[in-house]
Amino acid sequence: MTTPDVTIIGAGLGGLTLARALHVHGIPATVYEAEPSPTARAQGGMLDIHEHDGQLALKEAGLFDEFRGLVLEGREATRILDRDGTVLFEQADDGTGGRPEVQRGELRQLLLDSLPPGTVRWGHKVGGTRTLGDGRHEVTFTDGTTLTTGLLVGADGAWSRVRPLLSDATPEYTGMSLVETYLFDSDTRHPAHAKTVGGGALFALAPGKGLGAHRESGGTLHTYVMLTEARGWFAGIDFTDSAAATARITQEFDGWAPELTALITEGETAPVLRPLNALPVGHRWDRVPGVTLLGDAAHLAIPNGEGANLAMYDGAELARAIAAHPDDIETALTEYEQAMFPRGATAAADGNQLHEVLYGDNAPHSLVDLFTGHA
Ligand SMILES: Cc1cc2nc3c(=O)[nH]c(=O)nc-3n(C[C@H](O)[C@H](O)[C@H](O)COP(=O)(O)OP(=O)(O)OC[C@H]3O[C@@H](n4cnc5c(N)ncnc54)[C@H](O)[C@@H]3O)c2cc1C
Repeated sequence: MTTPDVTIIGAGLGGLTLARALHVHGIPATVYEAEPSPTARAQGGMLDIHEHDGQLALKEAGLFDEFRGLVLEGREATRILDRDGTVLFEQADDGTGGRPEVQRGELRQLLLDSLPPGTVRWGHKVGGTRTLGDGRHEVTFTDGTTLTTGLLVGADGAWSRVRPLLSDATPEYTGMSLVETYLFDSDTRHPAHAKTVGGGALFALAPGKGLGAHRESGGTLHTYVMLTEARGWFAGIDFTDSAAATARITQEFDGWAPELTALITEGETAPVLRPLNALPVGHRWDRVPGVTLLGDAAHLAIPNGEGANLAMYDGAELARAIAAHPDDIETALTEYEQAMFPRGATAAADGNQLHEVLYGDNAPHSLVDLFTGHA
């Protein structure tokens, strides 16, 4: 058996799961990551890790027990409120749900700690890539250095620098953006807000807009405001002026219950704008020898609770295919892609449907119906 030299661009959850699962199969890989260190950027947010993909990936990576140790108990609780604060649906977390929640940063650290030292090369931002022929590719970093590789995997997210080797597609704005803010130590410092959010997730929704909040570790409350507005509308808000930006965003929730708008107005961090972009649903490409994509680089979709799960699953599945065909990379990549294309397309289409449930004309009742089985 000849061991392929696997070059992975991007140390997100997808790229790291691939590297780890390859390591479990005895196949070395090197991950090149743009960020200068593991702690360069806060890895905010909680992720629910699903039985049918994310959890399978962690099993394949031999990290399932360690993952269970990261699960934040009780965070699968759900509250759905109308804009006037009426509680329309409430479900406790009885520990039997199949979507346990973990902090993204802790999951990423688990994967990092599971890799041989030196696997991740921090501070290596890819500027461009080109095909050399015979399945080999050249990667150029922004510091001018280059490498060549026989197997290149783009795990570099939405704005992948590897994707152009395979496809002309680029993400487009979905017409929706999130604005994020946080409240810390809520049990002691913001008990009323902690009560509004409850033990897990809060959804306060209306057609085209909504407030979502999650109780994270340490009683942190993470609020996501979702607005359906053009890029230009957001461009008219000066997000460097936190007070003015907060006031403008809150204006969109005029008449909503004060305990809901307080999650925005009393946020302890500057509001951060996150425009939501997506690749075309069903994005795919013709096989190009020696290169492939996984995760958001392959099938970026509106956040639908699946993206990180799918990225990890892609990583595990790609590792499995490479391990099954170490001497025949093209067969491995073909097998992986033929399963990954429909998987990504289905998840993106389901995600679009979920957005209709969350923010369509019948919100928030459509979400209540989903939970109660009346949808
Ligand atoms: C607000 C929000 C909430 C979300 N909530 C959820 C959720 O609850 N559940 C869920 O499953 N998914 C969720 N998602 C989606 C999820 O975050 C992504 O689908 C997932 O992170 C994709 O993983 P990835 O490894 O493909 O890419 P990424 O996590 O984007 O990682 C890519 C890595 O590549 C690096 N990189 C980028 N460019 C370069 C370059 N040129 N050179 C070198 N390195 C580079 C980046 O620094 C990064 O480390 C959410 C997304 C958003 C925006």
